[in-house]
Amino acid sequence: MHRVVVIGAGFGGLFAIKSLKNAPVDITLINGTAYHLFQPLLYQVATGILSEGEIAPPIREVLKRQKNVDVRLGWAREIDTDNKVVKVSGPGIDYEVEYDTLIVAAGATQSYFGNDGYADHAPGMKNIDDALELRARIFGAFEIADLHTDQEDIDRWLTFVVVGAGPTGTEMAGQIAELAHRTLPGQYKHIDPRKARIILVDAVGAVLNTFGDHLSTRALRQLHLLGVEVELNTKVVGVDATGIEVETERGHERIGSMTKVWAAGVAAPPLARKLAEKTGAKADRAGRIFVEKDLTVPGHPEIFVLGDLMNLNDEHGQQLPGVAQVAIQGGRYAAGTIKTRLEGKPAGKPFKYFDKGSLATISRFSAVASIGKLRLDGFPAWLIWVAVHLLYLVGFKNRVTAVMHWAVSFLGRGRSERVATVQQAFARRAIEEYGDPFERTRLEAIVRKD
Ligand SMILES: Cc1cc2nc3c(=O)[nH]c(=O)nc-3n(C[C@H](O)[C@H](O)[C@H](O)COP(=O)(O)OP(=O)(O)OC[C@H]3O[C@@H](n4cnc5c(N)ncnc54)[C@H](O)[C@@H]3O)c2cc1C
Repeated sequence: MHRVVVIGAGFGGLFAIKSLKNAPVDITLINGTAYHLFQPLLYQVATGILSEGEIAPPIREVLKRQKNVDVRLGWAREIDTDNKVVKVSGPGIDYEVEYDTLIVAAGATQSYFGNDGYADHAPGMKNIDDALELRARIFGAFEIADLHTDQEDIDRWLTFVVVGAGPTGTEMAGQIAELAHRTLPGQYKHIDPRKARIILVDAVGAVLNTFGDHLSTRALRQLHLLGVEVELNTKVVGVDATGIEVETERGHERIGSMTKVWAAGVAAPPLARKLAEKTGAKADRAGRIFVEKDLTVPGHPEIFVLGDLMNLNDEHGQQLPGVAQVAIQGGRYAAGTIKTRLEGKPAGKPFKYFDKGSLATISRFSAVASIGKLRLDGFPAWLIWVAVHLLYLVGFKNRVTAVMHWAVSFLGRGRSERVATVQQAFARRAIEEYGDPFERTRLEAIVRKD
């Protein structure tokens, strides 16, 4: 049987595997975590709307009816392209997997633009650990503010800075504002949560820059209505425990803030660099690999690179964005090519991305949507957002419970998932200091940084 190895159970990897369900192939899926992560809703886990399980179903359960897949936990460390072997590190055990065809869909990691130290004080938004740590920091900030008597301390705890005004940063800022203005008022004796400052910072001059002028302006207006302070053309030049340093048009400023969120910048994981070195493929500044029009690595028709990890231009010379649909369609395309090859048929057409549009929510009942020539904002866009996210959320049970939790937060004022444990808040530091007995985090760090 033809052996297909897939690295990564994100949108690209999972849709490739599902499309190979009835193909005469043996698939081995290698993923660093035991769950598939629906990243677009991470911010709702961070702000207490959804539970982590709702956006991260176990891969084994998702694929339980697909008999030609072997799911293996571990981080792919090296790809030996000469011998067609992937070298993997699992928790406490290393192993190798041989392939005839390889699909690399390992996604992207957070980039701090060379300032990795910022991560200590401004967690990114890439995985469940990030979202739970942020949940602990955000809800914890209101609790701690309530204990302080000095106004300067209270202000620092009640100031939230979100860096990056793309969809993730905008959604995050909008949700923190809704927490402060709708959910938490009346629950504290010593502070008024409505006095919280939520500041959204970006180095460019527009929010939701990629959505175009019209929707960008609408989004900015909606953010202002929510009470979010938007600081554009503002570059972050320092982040520490108690604040953030910025260069603005007004000059150098410091914003006192205990809670910072980093939602700017992506970089390919080191596996991409290693693959590029091995194959001689070119990579862009973020480490994404330039692929052929059939999504394979130049000179290696047996290796596909998909989704956030690839760099490919569309027919107009525009680089394809790092969004779920690019990964999904790439996964389906790679699977189709593998099937065509196995049937001995000639190669099909090059990969063509069909842009189904872009969506971003700003708050409850308020979103922006850019679909073909259609530009929508407010409630109609929000309805489309709900429908699309329900469609792509994996698992029937998750869809049902997500709708219930949305009802609690959007029709009511509550947040169903406000629990934050001490471990959530401090585990990252503790693991760095004392080590991880299961080596999972250490391995993840190695794979992400080496
Ligand atoms: C916070 C956030 C919000 C987003 N919102 C939207 C949105 O609203 N709409 C939209 O279209 N897109 C959105 N995106 C982008 C979208 O999620 C990505 O484009 C998409 O997930 C890319 O799919 P992928 O398969 O390439 O990678 P991913 O989905 O990132 O999957 C990569 C997988 O590979 C695994 N992995 C990584 N390295 C290794 C390794 N060395 N060995 C084994 N496994 C490995 C990871 O654990 C992960 O499971 C968002 C992204 C983020 C982070």
